[in-house]
Amino acid sequence: MRTFICIIILFTFMLGYSQTVESPYEVANWRWFRTAAVSYTFDDNTPNQFAIALPMFNEFGFNMTLFIVTDPNWEYAADWDVLEQAAAQGHEIASHTVTHTSLKGMEDAQQEAELKDSQETIEAHIPNPKCITIAYPFCDVPKRSIFEQYYIAGRICSGSIVPSSPRDFMNISSIICGEERNFNNVSNFISRAESAVKSNGWCVYLLHGIDDDGGWSTVLSDTLRETLSYFKAHSDSFWVETFGNVVRYIKERDALSVSELSVQDDQIQIQVTDTLDNVIFNVPVTLRRPLPVAWASATGTQNGQPVEVKVINVNSGKFIQFDAVPDGGKVVLQKASISGIHDCHGFLDTAPVLLQHYPNPFNPTTTIHYQLNTPSHVRLSVCNLLGQEVCVLVNEDRAPGIYNTMFNGAGLACGIYFSNIRTESENGQKYAATKKLILSK
Ligand SMILES: [Zn+2]
Repeated sequence: MRTFICIIILFTFMLGYSQTVESPYEVANWRWFRTAAVSYTFDDNTPNQFAIALPMFNEFGFNMTLFIVTDPNWEYAADWDVLEQAAAQGHEIASHTVTHTSLKGMEDAQQEAELKDSQETIEAHIPNPKCITIAYPFCDVPKRSIFEQYYIAGRICSGSIVPSSPRDFMNISSIICGEERNFNNVSNFISRAESAVKSNGWCVYLLHGIDDDGGWSTVLSDTLRETLSYFKAHSDSFWVETFGNVVRYIKERDALSVSELSVQDDQIQIQVTDTLDNVIFNVPVTLRRPLPVAWASATGTQNGQPVEVKVINVNSGKFIQFDAVPDGGKVVLQKASISGIHDCHGFLDTAPVLLQHYPNPFNPTTTIHYQLNTPSHVRLSVCNLLGQEVCVLVNEDRAPGIYNTMFNGAGLACGIYFSNIRTESENGQKYAATKKLILSK
């Protein structure tokens, strides 16, 4: 047992985890709690990557990574106007060295020139975001000490799915696509991506030529389009993002600290930080916490600017999911109402009977009566026909007694609703009841 624990500690240490996320917060493995990440990487600047793939990715709203050979004498010389525009649209422009020769066995100074100069050329044209990833020509890796001076990740091509916390960012695997590897059908692409779903991993495709542009190992543009359609249709599962942004996300996620600064009735303040360089590590990570019971919905800001917030059901509970950039300033979640439930208030006084309503049908208010014989925790809510809670009227400990709670349905659509009471007494006895309510106007 002790050995086992030691192995876990050692393993955790090796992975470089220093994540401290306070309960009840959770960090998404992949953005918006998707199950797998997918990156499309393109090498060698072949013409149809720009003429066909780039507009196609824009059409789907996905970003691609273009690993660029920067030498102006390269067979497919980089068109910087096109690349600058692509970068502005969110695509990644990264290094595929200067001259596209194997780094293996090359003198240190020469290796360094290939890595450093290609990065400098790219950043001279595109200062933001930084050029932080590299694809090695012929998948031959450089010297680690040289690599680490300039890049946060490097791409090889061993064909495996990358684990969600890779052990070695200098050797991120990719899958060579196209005719050379008999990998040209939509099903080839999908089956690899589905295996990433199974392991919560990251699937990196490596593409060169498209249709008849002269590039190596051609992929047909129709095939490419069908794969993008598939990921669009399954966007709950797949996070399609650039190689560099997935690396940023992983490193931020694994170095993240999340702590709650304050909780008030209508506002929660959260601090989200990491230990990384904010010039490079500036992408949002997705977090979640339970939605406070008295909140119908939530909005959020970071450093005073609105951030994306989703209120979602996970198993039985409701959660607030939100984006935050580590070290990007204080995150504030704010209580909000779902439109149509503005007037959902509970009022308490005393009167008779066990879960009855008067009047029923009602418009717009009705009174719900219930009686407690022992001290109990009470949860009283109103649900719609789909079983979704539209309002939580009571969720607290109550002394024995007879209670009246007023429910105001103003703003809700006419129709059938259900009041639902669940109580649990101090000795663990549970009680539940449901009654139909009709809102007629
Ligand atoms: Zn290449």
